Amino acid sequence: MSSVRLDLLPDGDFPVFRGNEDGYFLYYSPGYLAAVERSQSAQFESELFSSSDGRGEEASKLRQYGQNAQARWTSIQQSKFFPVCLTLYMNKECNLQCVYCYSNPSAQPGERLSIASIKAAGAVVAKNCCERDLPFTVVFHGGGEPTLDRDLVDQALDELERIGSEYKVPLFRYIATNGVMSKEKAAWLGKRFDLIGLSCDGPSSIQSRQRPLLGGGGSTAALEQTAEIIRGIGKPIHARVTVTPYTADRQDEIAEYICQLIRPQEIHVEPVYSSDRVGEALWQAWREKADDFVEGFVKGREAAHRHGVKWSTSGSRSKDIHGPYCNIFRDVLNLVPGGVATACFKCAGKEQVRGLSAEVGMVDHDREKFILDEPNILRLREALWFSSEECQGCMNFYHCTRSCPDSCHLDGGQDYQDWRCQIQLKLTEYDLLAFGEFLYADAARRGGAAGAPIVDLESAYYE
Ligand code: SF4
Ligand code: SF4
Repeated sequence: MSSVRLDLLPDGDFPVFRGNEDGYFLYYSPGYLAAVERSQSAQFESELFSSSDGRGEEASKLRQYGQNAQARWTSIQQSKFFPVCLTLYMNKECNLQCVYCYSNPSAQPGERLSIASIKAAGAVVAKNCCERDLPFTVVFHGGGEPTLDRDLVDQALDELERIGSEYKVPLFRYIATNGVMSKEKAAWLGKRFDLIGLSCDGPSSIQSRQRPLLGGGGSTAALEQTAEIIRGIGKPIHARVTVTPYTADRQDEIAEYICQLIRPQEIHVEPVYSSDRVGEALWQAWREKADDFVEGFVKGREAAHRHGVKWSTSGSRSKDIHGPYCNIFRDVLNLVPGGVATACFKCAGKEQVRGLSAEVGMVDHDREKFILDEPNILRLREALWFSSEECQGCMNFYHCTRSCPDSCHLDGGQDYQDWRCQIQLKLTEYDLLAFGEFLYADAARRGGAAGAPIVDLESAYYE
């Protein structure tokens, strides 16, 4: 696979990276890419780093994007936790037995999230959304399968709708489900939610192996049926694919299957996270398979785009400035059964949250209020934000989750440059070269420089 390595230019007080290609240079500031004819590069760099005005458009944009990236990076790290999204882990039970599940749910009913906790946390989030003029987003999520107790979900939605009206913020309802349910429940799901996330790892030869029913048997037929019912109701679907070392080179086949049978608007692909269930052998296999993942991802993306479906992964998103997946850096209040909120999305139960000292707050039942644990939030911010020198100079520096969630400062420290780093780096290198060649055609026509924001390049490139 062709790719380009870009190095940090030391001359500026903002991040800009340069890559050397045949006949031209590529310049990248997080979120913006420019291609410049080699003969024009000295003049271009002098404009880029000059303190006076009168720069060309591309040099100005690179400066602006670089400065914005620095400012946004500092703001994510330092801003007060102000949750504007409520994520609910309703239970820790499941009707499937996925081979890689990180929350390791039980087959037996256990503790569930209480309506009192949901109401108290919902009021905090709705008030913040009102202040920021944002929709009130609520996410019903795993830790288990959220639809197992339909009455509880109905009660929660009713309460959250009431709270949304009280604060005059529209409620946006998202649910992430395995989709294995009766026809009747699927119809309910389609009616009660605005967006449905269906976990699907591909055709039944993969799905049955990776996401079997609890007690055995395939989950494909039920999942396809649920997708069909939701589409019939007219609600959008996002598919979530977990890729393992065994499926890394089958992503085009996975994309074809999902686009034809599940027919989502978007497909989100993640290389499997480490967990007790995954085990060391499968984990070690990734170290040999990082290249296969990247090549497979690109083929999968091409297949999905032929169907008009977006295909993405979240480890390094060059159109965003972002750090790790911790809820405290994403302004997400993530409740788990027991009424505790967790900084880490991988904690699905109160004991796990407390074991890692990852508690962000909890419900005070006497006062019927959710209380944020500000001292612990502050401590977690300091503990979890990147401090490693190792990533200095990397073009992904401002948009990379590093090795989260496989290794973490809360649990033995981060192992930055593991296979996940290789994947994140290779994908960016591949994309920047592909977009760069596309831009260079324009620069050559104009006899100088051409640039564009990554988000525009991505849509133009795949048209
Ligand atoms: S694994 Fe660590 S870094 Fe990643 S989300 Fe959890 S707490 Fe944050
Ligand atoms: S983890 Fe790897 S890809 Fe990410 S910023 Fe560090 S060096 Fe770059």
